[in-house]
Amino acid sequence: MLIPAQNRTTPDLLGRLKAYEGQAAATGAAGKDPVNAAMIRHWCEAMGHAVPEDGAAPAAMLQVWTMGGLSGHGGGGGGGGARTPAYEELLALLDEAGCTSVVATDSEQEYVRPLRPGERISFDTVIESVSARKTTKLGAGHFVTTRTEIRTEIRTAAQGGELVGTHRFRILKYAPAPQKSAGPGRPRPVVNRDNAGYWEGVRDHRLLIQRCTDCGALRLPWLPGCDACGSPGWDTVQAGGAGVVHSYVVMHHPPFPAFEPPYAVALVELAEGVRVLGNVVGVAHEKVRIGMGVGLEFLRVDEDMTVPVFRPEV
Ligand code: ZN
Repeated sequence: MLIPAQNRTTPDLLGRLKAYEGQAAATGAAGKDPVNAAMIRHWCEAMGHAVPEDGAAPAAMLQVWTMGGLSGHGGGGGGGGARTPAYEELLALLDEAGCTSVVATDSEQEYVRPLRPGERISFDTVIESVSARKTTKLGAGHFVTTRTEIRTEIRTAAQGGELVGTHRFRILKYAPAPQKSAGPGRPRPVVNRDNAGYWEGVRDHRLLIQRCTDCGALRLPWLPGCDACGSPGWDTVQAGGAGVVHSYVVMHHPPFPAFEPPYAVALVELAEGVRVLGNVVGVAHEKVRIGMGVGLEFLRVDEDMTVPVFRPEV
């Protein structure tokens, strides 16, 4: 892969990038439908939540009301709405600097108050910040953070809408790093603030299960809150390592680079009662069975990645 020679951030380029901070990224977008009971019910059913008794939309539904669906809002832009020329220019400037790839890195939402059926929303997105050049495992580039403010519909020019929430969205525009080896490596887990502790544990050969500090419910994979009681408080317990194959598949096709089919992938129920995915090793794939007792091991794939795997008990 060719990386343009100008893939370096000169002071001049950083200054030009920074000049976009504070400029609009998308303007004048409006929710396609008013907040409505049917959507609230569908969302609650999909999430496994009870519909709030007061009929208000759960705060975490915020982004639902801004989504443009397949037909969109008449423009691009992660937060909806037509992208402004300023945002298009910023992305083009990064492309010219060699940062031609893009990945969404994280998103944060703040809720001011729940929305009620019948309310309409509008939203605008601003370019909040453009970072200096950072080197990441994906490649070097710039983080671009946009912030969308969601308001109740503005009815008159004088009467601004009421702020109900904000959605901050961050992307990395980067120049892909050259591959270390000739062949493609194994896909990497997506490590974020909510699950970093899990992967740190795996690296140290400890499989940590999250435990709610309010109701004691165990959960895996890691989540920011408790499924059972909603509490954000948690600690961890270390899995003892015993488990049973709850279900499994044997992968024959399609072949994925870095994996050699056929191989078995199991959903293992740990003795603690939670389930985790992993390869079954040390046994021919056709010997794997539901109900088979397995033990946890850790496979060091390369210097950057260790994963849990399971070996049948003998
Ligand atoms: Zn709980």
